[in-house]
Amino acid sequence: MQTAGDGDKIYQFRVSPLAQSPHFPAWQFRSHAEFVAFLKEHQSILDGRHLYQLSFATHKGRLEQPGTCAACRYPTCFNSSTNGEQLNDGKCLPNWREEMRCGCPRRLTNRERAALHLTQASGLLGWAQSLLHGVSPDFALAYMESAPDAQLLPRFYFSDGAATLPVESASCHFVVSLDELQNVEPLETALMELARVLVPGGRLIFTAPFYFNQPVSDCGAGVGIRRNAHKFGWDLLNMLKAAGFAEASALLYWSEELGYLGNMNFVFLAVK
Ligand SMILES: [Zn+2]
Repeated sequence: MQTAGDGDKIYQFRVSPLAQSPHFPAWQFRSHAEFVAFLKEHQSILDGRHLYQLSFATHKGRLEQPGTCAACRYPTCFNSSTNGEQLNDGKCLPNWREEMRCGCPRRLTNRERAALHLTQASGLLGWAQSLLHGVSPDFALAYMESAPDAQLLPRFYFSDGAATLPVESASCHFVVSLDELQNVEPLETALMELARVLVPGGRLIFTAPFYFNQPVSDCGAGVGIRRNAHKFGWDLLNMLKAAGFAEASALLYWSEELGYLGNMNFVFLAVK
């Protein structure tokens, strides 16, 4: 074992996360019209994936699948409990979006890994200033391994009455929000706040339940509604642009190797 000059401290060589992050495997859509045109051309690919995924159905109650965790950058085994769809023969599938946990220390779900991977592929570096909105403690720890200066914003921050963020304008490179914006009231104010704190060119990366067949969102049916107040459709992208983002898109991601199974899993990217 080699030792460095000061005592027994071992210096570990680390390559930039960006250099090691593989391309994020997704189709990117900037409007409902683009998505509809895509479906016309590529429905057979989606059908093929669906049939392939059905082949994983099991009676065993759990599923293990080898692959690579792009977020943690390790070969791993993805673990799922099969508490999702039940087929006619009694076999069950996982809820792909919320399962497929990597075997790495943080055990991130499919959705969490995809969000972290997209953030890394969008240029997350060690000095980046980030705001993490409503993420799990494990996600926050995994994120801070790449960018330690991240600040945390709890779940229901806006819905608990706050209208502004305790963050300076144009001070963050990334905002990451995980399955939280559907609970936020008032949504317009929150999106404007998220845009305000980003530097020009800064990225908002988020997941939220997405009704990909709906051109128009069904937003906030009443005062005081919190959980799942918004059923987002494609006009979410227009709302982001109205809030101050220059670009907004939805990314449909899938990769067996990276454990991104599931029929219609989206992550959103908005650039200020
Ligand atoms: Zn991992």
